[in-house]
Amino acid sequence: MEGSQREDSWDAMLAAVQAFHDKHDFRNTGGEELIYRVALMAEELGEISSCVTKGKSKDLLSEEVADLLILLMGTGIAAEFDLKAAFWKKMDRLMARESRMVNGRIRVSEFRDME
Ligand SMILES: [Mg+2]
Repeated sequence: MEGSQREDSWDAMLAAVQAFHDKHDFRNTGGEELIYRVALMAEELGEISSCVTKGKSKDLLSEEVADLLILLMGTGIAAEFDLKAAFWKKMDRLMARESRMVNGRIRVSEFRDME
């Protein structure tokens, strides 16, 4: 099945990531250790950076962003927090924030240190 035709559901995606963790028993093999996961996420962010700075294809960029998303979702599993709830809590806060142009680019922030 094409990825874009699959069920559009966070819960289905999270269950797939949980199944991936279970398949390799990440919980008992170091795969859920947070320091290791931070290193893996940094690695994937570097791969995303390389796609952008080296002008690689959108296909490759989307694959690397998916790698990072899977790691982020798995980090919620590893650290035992509800990432969907955290997402919506933060999204609501972001939507309430102001934006400013900073050095030619828009920035959405609370601007606490800039007054
Ligand atoms: Mg990758």
